Amino acid sequence: EYPAIASPARTQAILNRYRLSAKKSLGQNFLVDLNVLSNIVEAAEITGDDDVIEIGPGIGGLTEQLAKVAHRVLGFEIDQNLLPVLQETLAPYSNIKIINQDILKANLPQVVKTELTGKHPLKVVANLPYYITTPIVMNLLAGDLAFDAIVVMMQKEVAERLTAVPGTKAYGSLSVIVQERNNVEISFIVPRTAFIPQPKVDSAIIKLTPKLAKEVVPFDEKRFAGFVRGCFMHQRKTLWNNLLGFFGKTDAAKETITKVLADVQIDPGDRSEQLTIDQFVNLANAFHDNGI
Ligand code: SAM
Repeated sequence: EYPAIASPARTQAILNRYRLSAKKSLGQNFLVDLNVLSNIVEAAEITGDDDVIEIGPGIGGLTEQLAKVAHRVLGFEIDQNLLPVLQETLAPYSNIKIINQDILKANLPQVVKTELTGKHPLKVVANLPYYITTPIVMNLLAGDLAFDAIVVMMQKEVAERLTAVPGTKAYGSLSVIVQERNNVEISFIVPRTAFIPQPKVDSAIIKLTPKLAKEVVPFDEKRFAGFVRGCFMHQRKTLWNNLLGFFGKTDAAKETITKVLADVQIDPGDRSEQLTIDQFVNLANAFHDNGI
């Protein structure tokens, strides 16, 4: 029996033996705190019935802890140099499959169909590469796959934007688009000392679960996201000015914007960061109903 892959001594031994140095450009920071790992597995409430997608297995520290409890683990690792390492470190586990692919280019529904049965709850658990946190999360949420939960580590500052409430500085289009469809919570904060090498920022574990019952639903999710981004385009401008920028400065647009804002009872002088998620949905739907 080897000690856990993520124990500091074993991780260092693996890095030495393969002469690996963590690639900054790929966001390689390996977790070497077993408490943090077990907290992640616990936050994701992994059971023997769950299939798990992991993004960036690295040298397999988190993968190992997932494989011990999950039904199957599917790991997407972009770095070819890590494949022989993973083959060795994860050899004791028969329920892991590593795929050498860029997660942003992977056809997830297709891979899931060929590698998993579709009969198990699907969860995403990862210590994300920080340079592409937002595109990864947006891709997962925009895709066709239904996840039971997404539990991922990211830099604390992005986690704060994802969980931000109206009226705060961190509240923006990312908060609105993600929270419209998901419950989002920070499970816990992880200090930089939990990694080799240490990142320059502290991290947080975010847990996303789909909202089941919703009061209001956007007419079209993709257009809703575009609309919200338009509303936050110029942070220091009023909602009115951002809407004009989004819809165009024609007289017809001005007239519709005036009417819609009156209908949904939102002050044109408000700023986007004051609006609740439901207000954004009502607003987007009202514009749709008015033909723009
Ligand atoms: N899971 C390991 C851990 O917790 O110790 C490593 C996490 S490290 C923060 C991020 C991992 O993602 C690295 O192994 C890196 O090579 C991988 N990675 C970076 N960009 C990727 C991409 N576009 N697709 C898949 N994996 C990627």
